[in-house]
Amino acid sequence: MSLFQSEPSGERERRVPVLLPYPFPGPFDYRVPPDMDVKPGDVVLVPLNRREEVGVVWDAPADQSVPEHKLKRVVGVLDTPPMGESLRRFVDWIAAYTLSPPGEVMAMALRVLSGSARPVVRYRRADPLPVVRMTPPRQRVLDVLARQQPRLAAELLREAGVSPAVLRGMADVGLLVAETAAPGAPFIRPDPDHEGPALSAQQQGVAAALRDGVAARAFSVTLLDGVTGSGKTEVYLEAVAACLRAGRQALVMLPEIALSSQWIERFQRRFGVAPAVWHSDLPSRVRKITWQAVAEGQAPVVVGARSSLFLPFPDLGLIVVDEEHEAAFKQQDGVVYNARDMAVVRARFCDAPAVLVSATPSLETVANVEAGRYARLRLPSRHGGASMPVVTLVDLRDTPPERGRFLAPGLVQAVRETLAGGEQAMLFLNRRGYAPLTLCRHCGHRMQCPNCTAWLVEHRTRGQLLCHHCGHTIPIPPECPACGAADSLTPVGPGIERITEEAAAVFPDARRLIMASDTISGPHAAAAAAHEIEARAVDLIIGTQLVAKGWHFPHLTFVGVVDADLGLAGGELRASERTVQLLHQVAGRAGRAEAPGRVMLQTFIPDHPVMQALLQGDLDAFMASEAESRRDGEWPPYGRLAALIVSADSAIVADTLARDLGWSAPRGDGIVVLGPAPAPMSLLRGRHRRRLLLKVRRDVAVQPILRAWLGTVKVPRGGRVDVDVDPISFL
Ligand code: ADP
Ligand code: ZN
Repeated sequence: MSLFQSEPSGERERRVPVLLPYPFPGPFDYRVPPDMDVKPGDVVLVPLNRREEVGVVWDAPADQSVPEHKLKRVVGVLDTPPMGESLRRFVDWIAAYTLSPPGEVMAMALRVLSGSARPVVRYRRADPLPVVRMTPPRQRVLDVLARQQPRLAAELLREAGVSPAVLRGMADVGLLVAETAAPGAPFIRPDPDHEGPALSAQQQGVAAALRDGVAARAFSVTLLDGVTGSGKTEVYLEAVAACLRAGRQALVMLPEIALSSQWIERFQRRFGVAPAVWHSDLPSRVRKITWQAVAEGQAPVVVGARSSLFLPFPDLGLIVVDEEHEAAFKQQDGVVYNARDMAVVRARFCDAPAVLVSATPSLETVANVEAGRYARLRLPSRHGGASMPVVTLVDLRDTPPERGRFLAPGLVQAVRETLAGGEQAMLFLNRRGYAPLTLCRHCGHRMQCPNCTAWLVEHRTRGQLLCHHCGHTIPIPPECPACGAADSLTPVGPGIERITEEAAAVFPDARRLIMASDTISGPHAAAAAAHEIEARAVDLIIGTQLVAKGWHFPHLTFVGVVDADLGLAGGELRASERTVQLLHQVAGRAGRAEAPGRVMLQTFIPDHPVMQALLQGDLDAFMASEAESRRDGEWPPYGRLAALIVSADSAIVADTLARDLGWSAPRGDGIVVLGPAPAPMSLLRGRHRRRLLLKVRRDVAVQPILRAWLGTVKVPRGGRVDVDVDPISFL
């Protein structure tokens, strides 16, 4: 018997692997006291470095290498639903695919468990309502509650588009009654038989096919591909209804859930109640309740961002990924994964169908359809006989704007006509701030970020120059920091603030609304903006890519794209594809049945295939030729990529590490390594960056190659190597 064994011997204690939410290479073994019952998936408390940590009992066979007397004991099993088998398999799968430590992936599923479970406040309408001053915001809150109550404050703020002060005021005067609910309180069950819109014959056919997929209770992947406004949302909500009728849970993933107030209102019209919402900006209390409700099967439908994939659904029967082409589904920090692709993996482990939805499907998904791996359903025309918007190009070489201006005469004219007709217009420019570059007229000095390979962007309303990568901010200097010349700093190029200034001069009577991430800072602001637009309190919307996503504004009939060439500048692998998708989505905001939409694209390259595809509205042909050029070079989706991003606090360390990786680069049939090379952002947040790109044939797996490769180098202090499998950004 060992001297260190503290218990008198008797029966041998069991050992179990416990995965902890840290970047260790795998689970650690712990001893289980004889009177304790633990099984895989149980959430347990275990000692780790003199603290107690929450971990999950994992499945890997116990590792016998550590002698029993050195093992610590499991302290206890938490009274929380265990992590199911399918979620554990999913965690292992992502860890292996992305080369991430499994504990770090598991942490995403567990994170919400930390923190306290204080009771949550929900509101009801007072009954009877006291006679007090009624304002439009107050009325909106009461309207939201009339549809469903009680509601969380966060939901009321979002759906009514009001500020917290409004709710406080309403509670003070007795319009609202607060009640507390225990954590884990169930969400009200959406009613699949609540009356929804009557579907057209075309929509019915597609809805039936999706319902069959749900009824099959088997894994499948379907692309739902339909033009903007064809009713894709209404149709996939029928699949959600089928899932509810089958008594299973459904997950709908949206790229910008915090800005999706219109989507939630749609859901509410279809099912009578709002779904459970999941994203990282929710208060931790709300997240905890939602997590618990999902785990207990009490949240039948969840609409969420990327991280909703890690919720503990006991019986997931459907995953829908809306706007599947969106780059926002790619998580770039920590565990680098594409939630669109991982949704498919999760569906497979749950024996459930996955439905990928887009008006502009990604080349990856289209290639999967063509290879027969995914099915495809189409909605080829807009609902209710509405026509697609008419696109025209404004050739900036022939008809440039006036000096110092950015809107060409034809575009100005079109906006004037639209406004004169009592319709709404939108100007789109995917660039925040006033000007992307500030330079000295006297010496040519350019204002650059000290921490990043990037210009400082002028934000005139704030009086600042700002780095969009690291947040470095300085006041706009009165003189050039290089030559000292006074009043010589000049803005170059437009950002959205500058377009707003020009619009104010050109259309002084139009009521303007800016929609950019610095003006629309969250769900409440987004809902409020949407309501203003729907209520026609706005004539001219000026927006960044924030306006491109899923909005439906019935009175908007003109969209002007200020700089259609913007996304093509970097020449990245997917630059053309993404520009077509983004501009087609923006264009899709325009028009309805009675008033067809018009779209104008300002460009210097009207003959570019991207502009021609948008002009002709023929995205299929464009995607086919894009596919051809990728196939030739064996680029994704016809080959596989993985990026190694080397970074270090000094350029020398970064260079040495990158060179070492270059020397030990894998070789072989179908394997190519590009680099090392300085990253386009060779300095980011003060770190020096180098990149290597592994490109392999589609039939070669990148993970074993990467694992062997990374094993050949020793990463020095201050240096690191990040792995990005299937990269979509090459900065
Ligand atoms: P998509 O998701 O394809 O862009 P949506 O589902 O958002 O299309 O539909 C566009 C608009 O048309 C929405 O306002 C929606 O409510 C409306 N709509 C679609 N189908 C129908 C229908 N069958 N009956 C009534 N309205 C519909
Ligand atoms: Zn910076």
